[in-house]
Amino acid sequence: MLEHDVVIVGGGLAGCRAALEIARKAPELNVAMIAKTHPIRSHSVAAQGGIAATLKNVDDQDSWEAHAFDTIKGSDYLADQDAVALLTQEAPDVVIDLEHLGVLFSRLEDGRIAQRAFGGHSHNRTCYAADKTGHAILHELYNNIRRYGITIYDEWYVMRLILEDNRAKGVVMYHLLDGELQVLRAKAVMFATGGYGRVFNTTSNDFASTGDGLSMTALAGLPLEDMEFVQFHPTGLYPAGVLISEAVRGEGAYLINSEGDRFMATYAPNKMELAPRDITSRAITTEIRQGRGLNLDGSAGGPFVYLDLRHMGREKIMSRVPFCWEESHRLAGVDAVTEPIPVRPTAHYSMGGIPVNTDGRVRNSADGLVDNFFAAGECACVSVHGANRLGSNSLLECVVYGRRTGSAIATYVQDQSLPRVNETQYLQEAQQQIKALLAQSGDIRIHDIRQQVQDCLSQHCGVFRTADIIQEGLEQLQTYKQQYSNIRLDDKDTLWNTEIIEALELRNLMVVGEVIMTGALQRQESRGAHSREDFPTRNDNQFLQHTLAYFSTAGIELKYMPVNLNQFEPQERKY
Ligand SMILES: Cc1cc2nc3c(=O)[nH]c(=O)nc-3n(C[C@H](O)[C@H](O)[C@H](O)COP(=O)(O)OP(=O)(O)OC[C@H]3O[C@@H](n4cnc5c(N)ncnc54)[C@H](O)[C@@H]3O)c2cc1C
Repeated sequence: MLEHDVVIVGGGLAGCRAALEIARKAPELNVAMIAKTHPIRSHSVAAQGGIAATLKNVDDQDSWEAHAFDTIKGSDYLADQDAVALLTQEAPDVVIDLEHLGVLFSRLEDGRIAQRAFGGHSHNRTCYAADKTGHAILHELYNNIRRYGITIYDEWYVMRLILEDNRAKGVVMYHLLDGELQVLRAKAVMFATGGYGRVFNTTSNDFASTGDGLSMTALAGLPLEDMEFVQFHPTGLYPAGVLISEAVRGEGAYLINSEGDRFMATYAPNKMELAPRDITSRAITTEIRQGRGLNLDGSAGGPFVYLDLRHMGREKIMSRVPFCWEESHRLAGVDAVTEPIPVRPTAHYSMGGIPVNTDGRVRNSADGLVDNFFAAGECACVSVHGANRLGSNSLLECVVYGRRTGSAIATYVQDQSLPRVNETQYLQEAQQQIKALLAQSGDIRIHDIRQQVQDCLSQHCGVFRTADIIQEGLEQLQTYKQQYSNIRLDDKDTLWNTEIIEALELRNLMVVGEVIMTGALQRQESRGAHSREDFPTRNDNQFLQHTLAYFSTAGIELKYMPVNLNQFEPQERKY
C-alpha cells in the first residue's frame, strides 16, 4: 500500500496552490498529488481572461468591499458572505504572491500589473496575462511544486474515495499506462478535481471535466451542495462550444443580433455586454428563440448571434485577445478583425460542489464536518459564487481557497496518524469492478450512452427550465442508467486502455447529471443561473438557502442549509 502524509487529487490551480502552501508551511510532510491528466494539462491551463483582485493599479476607487458586493450581487445573494469577504480581502495578496513566483502578467506602461473590465464587476480589477492567464499561472505553480519535491502520480485515475466512520482514509487508483491498481492511504485527503462540463453536449470544458470527484464523494454517502446552479457562458464559439473569453467583451466587443442591434440594451441597459453571465446567456437564448439569431449564410432565424470585434482594430485584438482571434480562425474560419464571430451559450462552470467550510474541511451536513477530508477549487462549494459566478473569480477562488486549504491541512495533520485500511478488500473490489466492465457482453457503445446523457442534460436542464422538461429528462436518465450494464468495451487489454476510464467517467457523468436535475426540479424559483420559466421570480422566503443533495441508489434526498448573510441585505438584482 502506498503511504503519504497528505494526498491531493487534482493538479489544477487549486491542487497545485494547496500543495505549495503545505510545502511552505510544513516542509517535513510527505505530500502526493494524483492527476488523471498530466497536471499542466488540467483544465486550469485553458483559463483565458484573468483573475480578479483589487490591486487598484488602474482604478484607485476600488476596494475589497466593492469586490465583495459585486460578487454577492452577482451570486443573486446565495453566496456565503463570510467566504466572499475572505476571497476578496485575500485577493491582492495571492496575486502579488503569484507575481513573486514568476507569473508573467500583462503590464501597464509603468510596469505594474495591468487590470481590465469584466462582466458584473463595477471596477477594472481583472489581472491577466493576455488571454492565456491560466496557462501562465499553472505553469509557474507546477514549476514551484516540483522544486519542493512533491510526489506526482500523473495519469493515475482515482476511482474511489476511501471513507469509513466519517473519516477519509485514502483513495483507490488505476494506472492508465498498464492497468495497475493501488490503494493509497494518507492522514489527509484533498479533492481538487475540477468541474463537470462534459455532462452537457456543448461545453467550454476539456474532455477530463467529468465530475469524478463530485461523483466519488456522492457515492461515498456525502452531500453535494447547490448542484442545480450550472453556469452557461454566453459566448461559446459556434458550433464547437469552445470559449471565446469574456475578456473580449471586457476589451469592448459588441453582441449583435440578425437585425444588427446591440440587443443587450433591452436586457441590461447600464452594463450592456458586461452584464453578468446568467443575464447575458438568457438574453442570447431569448434572441435566438425569438428568431433574431443568425445562420452561417448570414440569414435570420439561426442558432447563434454575433460577437463583433471589428471596431476594436487589428492592433488591440492581436495584443489583448490574440488567442480568441486564433481560436475563431482555426475552428470557425473567421478572421475577427474583419468578420463577426458566431457565438451561443455553452456549459462552462459548476457553482455547486462538495460542501466545505472556509478552511476547506468537507461538510457531511449543515452543521457537521468529515474528518481528514478537504476540497477546494471548482469541485468544492464554499460558496463564493452562489447562484452565478462572476468571471475572473474562479481562478481567484482556486488560489485563495487552495492556499487556505493547504494551510489548514498543514496544521491538521500534525497530530494525525496513518489510518488503518484493509488494502486487500479495496483492491479486490476495484479489480472486480474493472473485470466486470471488461467481461460485459452487451452491445451498446460507451459513446452512444454518453452522447444521450449529454443531449439529455442540455435539452432538459439548460439555460431555461420547467418542471415538465426536467422531469422528462430524469426519466430518460433512468433508462441510460439501466443501459450502463449493457455497454461493451472493444479494448480488453490493460495497456493504455482509455475505454476503461471512459466507462468509469460515464458512470460519474450520470451520477452528477441526476443530482443536477433533481436539485433543479426541487428549486421552484429563478435565481442566478437557475431559470425556471414556471417560477420566474426569486423566492427568498422559501429558497434563500443552499441545497444539500444526498445520493443513493434508491434515489436522491434533498436537505437545506442556511446562507451566511452577515454583510449585505438581499436586494432585487438590476444591471
Ligand atoms: C475555457 C475556460 C476558460 C476559463 N477562463 C477563466 C478565467 O479567465 N478566469 C477565471 O477565473 N476562471 C476561468 N475559468 C474557470 C477556471 O479555469 C476553473 O474553474 C479552474 O481553473 C478550475 O481549477 P481546479 O484546480 O479546480 O480544477 P482543474 O484545473 O479542472 O483540474 C482538475 C484536476 O483534477 C484531476 N482529476 C479529475 N478527476 C480525477 C480523477 N478521477 N483521478 C485523478 N485526477 C483527477 C485532473 O487531472 C486535473 O488535474 C475558465 C474555464 C474554462 C473551461
